[in-house]
Amino acid sequence: MSTGHERAADGGAMLHPELRAQRDEAARAPDGRRLDHAEGTSKPLRTAAEPQPRGATVHGSRPVDQAEAAARFIAAPEHEKMHDERLWDLRQKRDREMHGIAEWEELRALASAIKEHTLTHLDEYLEQFEANAGAHGVHVHWAKDAAEHNRIVHGILGDHGAKTLIKSKSMLTEECGFRAYMASVGIEVVETDLGERIQQLDNEDPSHVVVPAVHKLRTDVAAVFARTIGTDPANSDVHYLAESQRQATRPLILAADAGMTGCNFAVAETGSVVVCTNEGNADLSANLPNLHIASIGIEKIIPRLDDLAVFVRLLSRSALGSPITQYTSHFRGPRRGSEMHFVLVDNGRSDRLGLEKFWTSLKCIRCGACMNTCPVYRRSGGLSYGATYSGPIGLIIDPTFNARKYSKLPFASTLNGSCTNVCPVKINIHEQIYAWRRELVKQHEMPLAKRAAMKAAGELLSRPAAYRAAIAAADAALAHLPRFVIYNGVNAWGRHREVPHPPKQTFHSWYRENRGGAQ
Ligand code: SF4
Repeated sequence: MSTGHERAADGGAMLHPELRAQRDEAARAPDGRRLDHAEGTSKPLRTAAEPQPRGATVHGSRPVDQAEAAARFIAAPEHEKMHDERLWDLRQKRDREMHGIAEWEELRALASAIKEHTLTHLDEYLEQFEANAGAHGVHVHWAKDAAEHNRIVHGILGDHGAKTLIKSKSMLTEECGFRAYMASVGIEVVETDLGERIQQLDNEDPSHVVVPAVHKLRTDVAAVFARTIGTDPANSDVHYLAESQRQATRPLILAADAGMTGCNFAVAETGSVVVCTNEGNADLSANLPNLHIASIGIEKIIPRLDDLAVFVRLLSRSALGSPITQYTSHFRGPRRGSEMHFVLVDNGRSDRLGLEKFWTSLKCIRCGACMNTCPVYRRSGGLSYGATYSGPIGLIIDPTFNARKYSKLPFASTLNGSCTNVCPVKINIHEQIYAWRRELVKQHEMPLAKRAAMKAAGELLSRPAAYRAAIAAADAALAHLPRFVIYNGVNAWGRHREVPHPPKQTFHSWYRENRGGAQ
């Protein structure tokens, strides 16, 4: 049976106009190859521009209201439809790649085992990495938290009199609030990844770990570029927009005093850092200036180069459904006349390693597959989570930073388990989400109304006779209540859905009648 999404993937009329590249002749490369939807059709959107919904409002440590921000995203139908379809398309591409590799499940098991082994011997591998990197002339620094990371990088830049820094995308630097810190000390940071640069110019966080501006329509990008680099606001042609950004950014890249990258994998036996990109921007950041700084989360260590092959095969296939990233760059030591610094960052990772139920979240390789498949994420956008990490992986990482602030996030899940099924390193994501719910109740971080409702439900469900009586009463009421009682602004169950008509007979009474069972 064909689902709506499958029809959409075939290029049918259900696709959002931004994704309708398959039958669009303008979306073909000169050699006839169809451009991927990420490159998109070059024709401007014909639909009216819809204002871009903004993400969750964050107030200190007050609990982030993901549902409120999600409701605003859903209320913007162009954005919601495009976002849902674009990410589901990535999920389908991931599935096609997965089916092309007979040993996929063995690879996942191996990747999981390598990560678990490394995490349980992390001290040894970190020391091995430090020694090998140092032997190649790399300066290795240790940062216990985000503030220390920022201070260390500032110090390195200060030692070189650097005032401008180009950097490639790094979720760790997002976690450290790095750009804001650099702005406060007068250092200009230029993001070199296109999606991340769009987000920087729009003063927004990335909404996805791999595709940071995936929640934006092309018209949104056109508006951002018109405001910041002076492009034509009416022109949302992707080639025009990308070329304009290239022209605006290239002189900044060429003139930068220092370059910075993140790290996908840090190989202990070689002391090298591996960065995977599709735009080659990490190579620009690392190789153009004479100073290269790499920020590395301590969980990014893998023991050997042979292990890297396992992860490289899984990463891009899981992330974008492509066999490999365009650039898999290895950085091992400084070029003659230049300097290289590695900053190893803990920022709560050691504490997480000690959490019995949650330590395996450190296996994450930030592929984003769990986000692409999650029905809640796809329909609410990454910025609704109000945190560095969104989607299913965010639900289990964010509360480790601040349980109160992110106490509502573990409830933004259907617990359908799809995230666990696609995770290339076999993290039991949905089980950890459920474990967080229990943990938050224990820590008294559940809202009073929800606690009371759950307590009442628990009482009812533990008394079969009372439960059956309540169901019968609810069925009778549903059949006769006027519509406004169910469909109103107060009752969340009546929003965006028609409550089904109650059956004439409950399953329980049917079973007793037809099977004679006592239960
Ligand atoms: S939890 Fe798994 S699926 Fe999600 S981003 Fe991390 S590695 Fe990818």
